[in-house]
Amino acid sequence: MFQRIGFADADSGLEEAEYVVVGLPFDGTASFRSGSRDGPDAIRLASFNFESYDIHHGVDLSDLKICDLGNMELGADPAYAEETIKEGLAFLPERAVPIFLGGEHSITPAIVEGLGRRAPGALDVLVLDAHLDLREEYGCTKASHACASRRILEKDALEGYASIGIRSGSREEFDWAAENGIAYYTARQVREEGIDAALDRAMERLQCERLYLSIDLDVLDPAYAPAVGNPEPFGLSSWDVQRVIERLAPRLVGLDINELTPAYDRGETALLAARLAREFIAARAKHKIL
Ligand code: MN
Ligand code: MN
Repeated sequence: MFQRIGFADADSGLEEAEYVVVGLPFDGTASFRSGSRDGPDAIRLASFNFESYDIHHGVDLSDLKICDLGNMELGADPAYAEETIKEGLAFLPERAVPIFLGGEHSITPAIVEGLGRRAPGALDVLVLDAHLDLREEYGCTKASHACASRRILEKDALEGYASIGIRSGSREEFDWAAENGIAYYTARQVREEGIDAALDRAMERLQCERLYLSIDLDVLDPAYAPAVGNPEPFGLSSWDVQRVIERLAPRLVGLDINELTPAYDRGETALLAARLAREFIAARAKHKIL
């Protein structure tokens, strides 16, 4: 009768949870549109639009053990936010799969490090992004969201890395990617070859047991996801991103959905972000049931 504004159908306690929703409301390095700190709560609100039953996967989310832990208090200093995220991850039970709601993309390197500490063994990371995010530094900080993938690549726990949806970066970033053998697949390749072919090629680089998925919502065309920090036309469709999640859901150790800026939204971007999170839960649950 009384509704807490957590993620829809997240009625379980942490002890029993199979899925844990964690909000990371940090936007201290935003370079164009700010406000992604309001992203987690906008996604939660939007999640109530949807039926708990998912017809495609035949899964009812109200039957699953989902816990919403709320938001971490991350302040405005990137160094503080990074430490807090890493420490916070230690509280998550190992059997629960975390779903992180951003926040800007700079949350992801800290998550990767935290997940590396949480369980032994290497980690592969797949990033969906319009941008390479390979800058060494941006806006006088190495912690900028424009450096997210560069920082991920420095993590000890990292084994393999690939990104899909790329269509923006500086000449230096593309040169650095070529020199260092960084695997990326462009939005144009997805358009021409299809998302399954692009994902197949990316997965050749991601062979270890543990795979983490980071979704920068600007990977989507602004027609689908207009409310992001740095919108970039000629992007992926919502069907493309759904397909990636559906295929990878069974083997993911976690995912994040970042860069939503609710102030620029008429609701559609938050709705899509919430739906993508629910897609992950339903697709994974179906795999476990079968
Ligand atoms: Mn990014
Ligand atoms: Mn981006």
